[in-house]
Amino acid sequence: MQALVLEEKGVLSLRDIDLPLTVGPDDVKIAIHTVGICGSDVHYYTHGRIGPFVLREPMVLGHEAAGTVVEVGSAVKHLNVGDRVCMEPGVPNLSSRASKLGLYNVDPDVHFWATPPVHGVLAPFTVHPAAFTYKLPDNVSFAEGAMVEPFAIGMQAATRARLQPGDVAAVIGCGPIGIMVALAALAAGCSRVFISDLSSEKLAVAEQYPGILPVNITERPFAGVIAEATGGWGADVVFEASGSPRAFDGLFDLVRPGGAVVLVGLPVEKVSFDVAGAISKEVRIETVFRYANIFDRALELIASGKVDLKPLITATFNFSQSIAAFERAAAGKASDVKLQIRLADGT
Ligand SMILES: [Zn+2]
Repeated sequence: MQALVLEEKGVLSLRDIDLPLTVGPDDVKIAIHTVGICGSDVHYYTHGRIGPFVLREPMVLGHEAAGTVVEVGSAVKHLNVGDRVCMEPGVPNLSSRASKLGLYNVDPDVHFWATPPVHGVLAPFTVHPAAFTYKLPDNVSFAEGAMVEPFAIGMQAATRARLQPGDVAAVIGCGPIGIMVALAALAAGCSRVFISDLSSEKLAVAEQYPGILPVNITERPFAGVIAEATGGWGADVVFEASGSPRAFDGLFDLVRPGGAVVLVGLPVEKVSFDVAGAISKEVRIETVFRYANIFDRALELIASGKVDLKPLITATFNFSQSIAAFERAAAGKASDVKLQIRLADGT
């Protein structure tokens, strides 16, 4: 089976590779249709590692995927051959202590696609547990189905924030995840979501959504804009989605007394932050690691029309153009939000 294989840091090839395709009683086999390219895929390509996860042998990339069920295990009840689906890329050990607590995203034994040594799904077929495979509503395309994974991170952030109707939110960082967070915050009932970045091109993408208010921090300090908009009170919730150490300077100036700061972005190095600033406002600090129990809700929101992720799909490549797609993603054009690779026909 041909797959997009990361051979080693900086070397991709589209070649045959043996992948296990045995369908167990609780599994489904899926013909992959669309796979989104994620920042993490690109980072493995350009750096060969992310933190403790180091590429030591060739690995298939891709973890944001949708496709069609082509075979169903004997014990699977909720899916049938021909169903259009998207998949949650992390498979926890369901008997683990974390899973039993409902926190399967932080199960230390989770197997996550395209995280060494686990292969991803930029290949024609994969076999996956049916429990982590979700049927797409008829009005949700494969391309949108492949956007559920990154959107799920925004949904997890909104959930961790415990947003209330009418909240004012501030999002630092207008990359793909920052935009996902802003959209999820709006869907969760925020009245206004301010989003900051240095790049006017990135902000222009976010600005097309009513309710999202872009702030270019090369022109105006974010804290000043938030203070002005809230009568000096601060945002109810601040989401840090840039991963930049500089975002932690004055972070608590953005948030209201008793508000929440939700950490989504992953700084490469340790950062220092103002403990006294947090304590003096009794700020609640939350963190986000992937997602748990989110995919069903994300699909409900997309199907309802309340969240439209289609404008975020910048370009779609054929499977044979996968390497070119990764080169473009690695170039990091500010106006590119999501690049996708399509492996099959139809929508
Ligand atoms: Zn991703």
